[in-house]
Amino acid sequence: MMDRVFSGMRPTGKLHLGHMAGALANWVKLQEDHECYYCVVDWHALMSDYADSSMLRDNCREILLDWLAVGLDPDKCTIFVQSHVKEHAELSLALSMVTPLGWLERNPTYKDQILNLQNKDLSTYAFLGYPVLMAADILLYKATKVPVGEDQSAHLELSREIARRFNYYFGEVFPEPQALHTSTPKIPGTDGRKMSKSYGNSLNIADEPAVLWDKLKTMMTDPARYRRTDPGDPDKCPVWDLQKFFNHDAAEMEELAHGCRTAGIGCIDCKKKLFRHVEEVMTPIQERRRRLEEHQDMLNEIVQEGAKKARSTALVTMEEVYGAVGMLR
Ligand code: SF4
Repeated sequence: MMDRVFSGMRPTGKLHLGHMAGALANWVKLQEDHECYYCVVDWHALMSDYADSSMLRDNCREILLDWLAVGLDPDKCTIFVQSHVKEHAELSLALSMVTPLGWLERNPTYKDQILNLQNKDLSTYAFLGYPVLMAADILLYKATKVPVGEDQSAHLELSREIARRFNYYFGEVFPEPQALHTSTPKIPGTDGRKMSKSYGNSLNIADEPAVLWDKLKTMMTDPARYRRTDPGDPDKCPVWDLQKFFNHDAAEMEELAHGCRTAGIGCIDCKKKLFRHVEEVMTPIQERRRRLEEHQDMLNEIVQEGAKKARSTALVTMEEVYGAVGMLR
């Protein structure tokens, strides 16, 4: 039987090339030979952004446009919005019955987030319980595989523990989801740090070519190349990480690396070559995105159809849950 995969993303705005090269590239591959459920987790976004939810609806649309533009195919995977399938909230409530408070309080990500997002009041009941909702997201579809980056393993472990505890009390309902470790290429932002909306250093999937070029032009390079005549080292240059992802012309890469090390080329020459490859990859993606943006009815239809498919699986699980718990039906 095909492995069932669940993965979600919080709608917090337009996605960037880091998302595209990391999680989304893996999702696109997985849809070919796995039964995939990809969910815009809007309840999770509300947990941290409840004080101003004015962008929530638009952010959901943006993320869906980005997903479809980069190649998620509704004929190959189920694409939906979490709040459209009310069983996520129902299962989260059921799982919260068996989740010890100490597990949530000790969750390292919870402590980190509280420290990192000090401009938001996250001392809420919902935010403490977000791993429970996350477990519900996965377990509702009895997903056997969950793609995770290195830093998300703790979350998945908590989902597995919650499943185990539910099964202990009520019988074997949930399989324990396994981590699907995926490789993610390094895609730094324009300042050399990790690409992130909050650092203001992103190259967005939706950025028009002129905008992408403006950002690339001023992107940080190897600091040793202070002047055009100073030799550099591609391995110390964030632009080179982008070259490695976008530029598949081995001879050109060789030439550029040599030119960098000998100061035979300037950084702007190197960036121009990179931009040509970025443009080649991004143009069809952006065309698809524009087409969908102009046809919102198509987008709505995809999401409604996705919710219908997701709900049909979710309902079966919930019937099993109510039966196992012993509720009057
Ligand atoms: Fe970076 Fe290219 Fe400049 Fe070398 S030539 S420092 S790889 S941008």
